Amino acid sequence: MSKLFLVPTPIGNLEDITFRAIDILKKVDAILAEDTRKTTILLNHYEIKIMLLSYHQFYEHKSIEKLIKRLKQGESMALVSDAGTPSISDPGFLIVKGCLDHQIPVECLPGPTAFIPALVNSGLPADRFCFEGFLPHKKGRTKRLKLLSGETRTMIFYESPQRLIRTLLQFSEYFGNTRNASISRELTKIYEETQRGTIGELIDFYNNKTVKGEIVIVIEGKKE
Ligand code: SAM
Repeated sequence: MSKLFLVPTPIGNLEDITFRAIDILKKVDAILAEDTRKTTILLNHYEIKIMLLSYHQFYEHKSIEKLIKRLKQGESMALVSDAGTPSISDPGFLIVKGCLDHQIPVECLPGPTAFIPALVNSGLPADRFCFEGFLPHKKGRTKRLKLLSGETRTMIFYESPQRLIRTLLQFSEYFGNTRNASISRELTKIYEETQRGTIGELIDFYNNKTVKGEIVIVIEGKKE
């Protein structure tokens, strides 16, 4: 049956996968993976023996067309990323758009993603929030930060541990030192931790520390 599934995979703890995700991964004709070596670990754990294709090799427009052709001919495929939900700060958007343009059904399963547990753990308002993913590294960064300085919803950012302090210092510059914030590190893994405090307090906590692992930063919105 022609169909593209987007299947969320664990962000650390291999147990965080749904029964339906495993079922779909066992039934599709092929699995498209961002990194086939990483996905092989997951597939071996759940004894899934479906053909694995590298999604990167299909990333260019022309190659997406080849995938669309196979899907149109009746194949079903599942796209997975290294961790979490495809398309969320990960490849996925282009193939979803390609499928929809060709009337190929697309279905994203609900499942793991790093920003939801980080938001809920933060204790900051979760009724209205905006997901910003990774800030641009250079071009457009200042413009984005200026725009966000007026944002009243809780903001969520992905960041690498090496850039954490630099980013917190910029947040302090654009949002002020006293805004409440939270940093979730290594969610679902052995050394999972969430630090909460004002931006200033978090700068003091992380300054001169070697930070390792994966990080989500959550920042309180501007008071209305
Ligand atoms: N598709 C993924 C998702 O649904 O969350 C995001 C992939 S993005 C390339 C990787 C970033 O997600 C990391 O740099 C980090 O900011 C965040 N992330 C992923 N896993 C995490 C974890 N276990 N703990 C904290 N942050 C995590």
